[in-house]
Amino acid sequence: MAGGGSPLAGTAEPADATDPALGPVRSGQPTPGAVGRAGPGAHEGLAEPTGTGRRQRHELWMRRALQAAVTGPAVTGSGVTSPEAAVAAEGSADDVPVGAVVYGPDGTELAVGRNERELTGDPTAHAEVLALRRAAERLGRWRLDDCTLVVTLEPCTMCAGAIVLARISTVVFGAWEPKTGAAGSLWDVLRDRRLNHRPEVYGGVLATENSAVLRAFFR
Ligand code: ZN
Repeated sequence: MAGGGSPLAGTAEPADATDPALGPVRSGQPTPGAVGRAGPGAHEGLAEPTGTGRRQRHELWMRRALQAAVTGPAVTGSGVTSPEAAVAAEGSADDVPVGAVVYGPDGTELAVGRNERELTGDPTAHAEVLALRRAAERLGRWRLDDCTLVVTLEPCTMCAGAIVLARISTVVFGAWEPKTGAAGSLWDVLRDRRLNHRPEVYGGVLATENSAVLRAFFR
């Protein structure tokens, strides 16, 4: 977005879930991942960022997640890399660059995660899971009500399950993942109507840029 890029540090803009202008999730809107979708929630549309402020916030937050995907989680918002972070980022060069950030109800950055499956040899070390764990640790509780999780790639079934269990209120994701995506592509775990907690979902945010980073990795 033109004119974007100014750091949001310090501004306590309300997150989506607490935004008084927040409307209900609209149903029946087609989504890019809706082709061939079947099962619960397949007919439900993704939420649309109606307000300009919300869209800008989502894009700003997505750039932060993308930064984490590329350079590792320990990089500060100002782009300053600590020696430890540099080592961590170097060590995870084999990992698919996926980044996730959890924001609190007031827009505070709570935790960052980068996919560390190869680095740690842990099959569950996806960016979303790591960010959720760190956010819960920071808040001292497992419930992450009114928090927003931003991730550069559509969550898989494991991460979508973890997001629901953490009671995350809003999910913003970047590139669609037609092979494993569980937020509308292959499944829609996040908005399965059989579950009593369903976060609001915004998909395809900065999808082109997020896809480009992944394509560059797999090239
Ligand atoms: Zn995952």
